[in-house]
Amino acid sequence: MRAMLLKEKGKPFVFEDLPKPTPNEGEAVAKIIATGAGLTIHHTRMGRTPDIKYPLIVGHEITAKISSVGKGVKNLKEGDAVTAYFYVTCGECKWCRINRETLCSNFLGYVGRQIQGAYAEYIKLPARNFIKLPEKLNYKDNPAEVAVICDAIATPYKVTRRAKIAPLENVAVIGAGGGVGIHMVMMAKRAGARVIAIDIAGEKLEKCKEIGADEVIDASKENMTSSLIEMTNGDGLDVAIDFVSTSQTIESATQSLGIGGRFVTLGGAGQDFSASAREMVQKELEIIGSRYCTKQEVIESLELVARGDVWPLVTETYKLEDAEKAHDRLETGSILGRAVIMM
Ligand SMILES: [Zn+2]
Repeated sequence: MRAMLLKEKGKPFVFEDLPKPTPNEGEAVAKIIATGAGLTIHHTRMGRTPDIKYPLIVGHEITAKISSVGKGVKNLKEGDAVTAYFYVTCGECKWCRINRETLCSNFLGYVGRQIQGAYAEYIKLPARNFIKLPEKLNYKDNPAEVAVICDAIATPYKVTRRAKIAPLENVAVIGAGGGVGIHMVMMAKRAGARVIAIDIAGEKLEKCKEIGADEVIDASKENMTSSLIEMTNGDGLDVAIDFVSTSQTIESATQSLGIGGRFVTLGGAGQDFSASAREMVQKELEIIGSRYCTKQEVIESLELVARGDVWPLVTETYKLEDAEKAHDRLETGSILGRAVIMM
């Protein structure tokens, strides 16, 4: 099968012909139709993620068709249209059992990092990492959009729940121009909120407006905290969602929260910050971390797209052999929405 391999840390992809994988007990193999190229994958391409063994095939957001199943697999059969779940979890610990599997205490790694991913014609995964597409989701005509639902839609879908976003609330999205950020704007809007998109690129902010942001802040030109306080008539934000998460963005965001405000970080730079405990108590603020999404949230996100409630924003597609071109554009932050590799 054709595959793009990372052979050394931080070095470009190498195109190779590899043997097609065969499923062992409890595993299945799927033929890839389309696979997303987002920032999570790009960090691995650049050698910025730990615990990687080379050679590696990256990629985890897929539209695919099951081509063979191993012994004991009951939930899948040849020909099933599927997407994938990014985390490899045990399925048995307390966190897996209560449907919070991103917290799995026997975490086994990520698809496209610790096990081979989707920048190839075929992918082999534990059968429970494949999620069947709902019948009314038209993946045949929209394979690129369907591929990215399992991360670009499902991750912000989870945030709308964790932050308990309610209609008419003031919600700011920091890093709104990014591949998941722009879908966060979409999902917060769908939840009925008034959405303020914050980024440092004018072109991306224009796109945020087009897909529904009520206001935008160009953080390269304006002071984020004072603009947010002004835009909310001095009340402050109900929810701030931070995809950038430097000390500076986190402190601006938490200082912009109003009474009952919630702050959500999705990692980003992952820096330390300081906050006032007195203010947290007086306003009953909440500080929340949110990791990816659960399988159930992927299933519900597929359903939302099938119903036409939201639609993923894919603006660029590439051939497998041109994956490096997509990653050049990811490195410079030039991609609006998501890029997808078509097999
Ligand atoms: Zn577990």
